[in-house]
Amino acid sequence: MPRTRLHEVPPTAGLPLRLPDLLPGRTDLAARIATLLDTPPLQLECSGTAALLLTLRVLKARSPQRPVVVVPAYTCPLVAIAVHCAGLRLRLCDLRPGHYDMDPQALAEACREDTLAVLPTHLAGRVADIDTAVTVARGAGAYVIEDAAQALGARDRGASVGLRGDVGFFSLAAGKGLSIYEGGLLLARDPELREALRRTHAEVPRSLGWELRRSLELLGLAALYRPLGLGLAYGRPLRAALRRGDPVAAVGDDFAPAIPFHRVGAWRRAVGAHAAARLPAFLATLAAQAASRVSRLGHIAGVEVLGDPPGAQGTWPFLLLRLPDTRMRDAALARLWQKGLGVSRLFIHALPDYAYLADRVPRQDVPNARDFAARTLTVSNSPWLDDAAFGLIADEIARTVA
Ligand SMILES: *Cc1c(COP(=O)(O)O)cnc(C)c1O
Repeated sequence: MPRTRLHEVPPTAGLPLRLPDLLPGRTDLAARIATLLDTPPLQLECSGTAALLLTLRVLKARSPQRPVVVVPAYTCPLVAIAVHCAGLRLRLCDLRPGHYDMDPQALAEACREDTLAVLPTHLAGRVADIDTAVTVARGAGAYVIEDAAQALGARDRGASVGLRGDVGFFSLAAGKGLSIYEGGLLLARDPELREALRRTHAEVPRSLGWELRRSLELLGLAALYRPLGLGLAYGRPLRAALRRGDPVAAVGDDFAPAIPFHRVGAWRRAVGAHAAARLPAFLATLAAQAASRVSRLGHIAGVEVLGDPPGAQGTWPFLLLRLPDTRMRDAALARLWQKGLGVSRLFIHALPDYAYLADRVPRQDVPNARDFAARTLTVSNSPWLDDAAFGLIADEIARTVA
């Protein structure tokens, strides 16, 4: 049922920008985040996808005889597009049953002499099993790239994610925590690899056209990223897409085939650097809010809220829930998706099931990834979802699975 009121909770908890963020200032965004996360120097690129593409180009030059990249069968379609744009081939790894991690057995089978890299993925801010990926990849002579696009600020055994593999990347896209509308940060533990990434970055061109466009988009985000504006900018197109029966468009899974590649301008870097000062407190607020809400939802029989392994503290942009079956998941969505309460889905399909990616994704049987796509939904962890509205969601989910 479409809401008549233009009040909308975003599906993920982004750090809201403030007016003073838009004033010029220090432009050292990457250095500030590196200090906050206590990491080696970070490298800023124009998107998480561009950061991944640049990494793949560097690794491909080092191991030209290895044309295959192994990725989880349930991940962002942009990952498949980046692998294709790098002139490499995708091999999918099915998930562990009911989990976001790649299945260790399937991973061992997927990693071969032709494998350049594997991409364990910190999905939904949850901390992925990097140790298994590193062990398997090392055995095959492959690199490990940690996809931490959704996990800026997540920690594993005391250190930022992205440091156990060879390279890690974060996304600064709209809707992914700290945003400069589009941006990405690269992280590499090994100084030599870091230097190779830096040299390749030196070739990234400036583009006045792209920077102007992104700057206007960032202004739009700053203006509309609030409950009133989101009804207009996010809620209306979402409901229109769902009425058309197009869930892929509804969650924004329909990505363009080309990946823009350009430098991030000084003004957007300054906006991000200003906002970064509030990131630690924001992440702490989200973690505290998530703790009680995970517990509440976890008490509903049949509902599992995905959590972190021991020793890890992920971030909480939203809660990722697995329901007993697709029918119940769809019933819950039918009642909640269009209510403006921040209930949504993560990626709609396992990678082989996006029609528009058919030319870039192999036809592999990935039953666990398909099951994960068919049984999960997300509940926003935005501070704008107050306890009363969250209570409505929890009650509705409980009724659905009862
Ligand atoms: C969003 C996302 C990306 C791509 O990041 P962009 O900054 O949007 O280009 C890669 N992987 C995952 C898992 C993502 O969610």
